[in-house]
Amino acid sequence: MINPAIAVRRLSKSFGPVEVLHDIDLEIAAGAATCIIGPSGSGKSTLLRCMAFLDEPTHGTIDVFGEPLGFTEDGAGKRTRLPAQRIRAVRAGIGMVFQQFNLWPHMTALGNVSEALKTVRGLTKREAEDRGMAQLSRIGLANRADHYPSQLSGGQQQRVAIARALALEPKIMLFDEATASLDPELTGEVLNVMRQLASDGMTMVIVTHEIGFAASIGKKVVFLDKGRVLIDGSPQTVFGKPRHARMDQFLDTYL
Ligand code: ADP
Ligand code: MG
Repeated sequence: MINPAIAVRRLSKSFGPVEVLHDIDLEIAAGAATCIIGPSGSGKSTLLRCMAFLDEPTHGTIDVFGEPLGFTEDGAGKRTRLPAQRIRAVRAGIGMVFQQFNLWPHMTALGNVSEALKTVRGLTKREAEDRGMAQLSRIGLANRADHYPSQLSGGQQQRVAIARALALEPKIMLFDEATASLDPELTGEVLNVMRQLASDGMTMVIVTHEIGFAASIGKKVVFLDKGRVLIDGSPQTVFGKPRHARMDQFLDTYL
C-alpha cells in the first residue's frame, strides 16, 4: 500500500503493568472501510482509541496520512512527544462515533450537530446551521432537525451523532460498536448510513460485532485476539474456507 490513511507500527499499549495490545502492525487503506472484529476484551476499543489519540500508545507509532500522531520515533526507537498543537491538528482530521451516542439532551438535533462548528471551528451561527443541516440531510434526518434527543429513536440519535462527527469534515471516521446499544430493529438504519459513507469513499475503521456487515462492507477485515492481530485480509480470505481455527471458534460464539 503506497499511501495508507493510518499506519500503525509496532504499537503496544499497557494500562499500568498490564499490556493489552502487543506489537501491532496495521495499515488502514484510504477511501475504504476496514472492519475490526474480535472477542470482548481483545483490545478493539483500545486500538481505536489509540488511532484517535484518546489513549496513548506505550510503544510504537501511528501515522495519519503520513503525519505522525502524538509521537515521532527516531532510528533507534526513541520516541519524542509532539507539541500539543501538532497533535490537535492531526486529531482534527479524525471523527469518532461510540456505542453511547452522548448527545446533549438540552439541544436539538441541529444544535448537537452545529455546536462544535461554532465553539471549536469558530463558524457563525448561520454557517454552522447551514453545514449542520447539510449533514442531517446526508443521514436522512433533515426533518428531525428541531427534535430533542428524547424525541428521537436510538437509531436516529446515533445517526445524529454520526452527522455531528461528519460536520467537522474528518478525513477518517472511527466507529466503536456504533450499533451495540441499539435494539435489533434499529441497527439497520445506522448500518445503512455507514454503508452509504463507505460508498461515498469515506475512510472508515469500524469495530463491530455485526459479522455479516463486516463481511460485506469492508475492503479488509482485521481479527484481533488477546491484543494481537491474528488475521488481516480481505473478507473472502478471513471468512472463507479454509478458515483459521480461532476464527471458526469466534464465529461459533457470535453468530
Ligand atoms: P474490546 O473493545 O475488544 O472489548 P478493550 O480495548 O475495551 O477491548 O479492552 C482490552 C483490555 O484492556 C481489557 O482487558 C480491558 O479490561 C483493558 N482496559 C481497557 N481500558 C482500560 C483502562 N482504561 N484501564 C485499565 N484496563 C483497561
Ligand atoms: Mg470495546
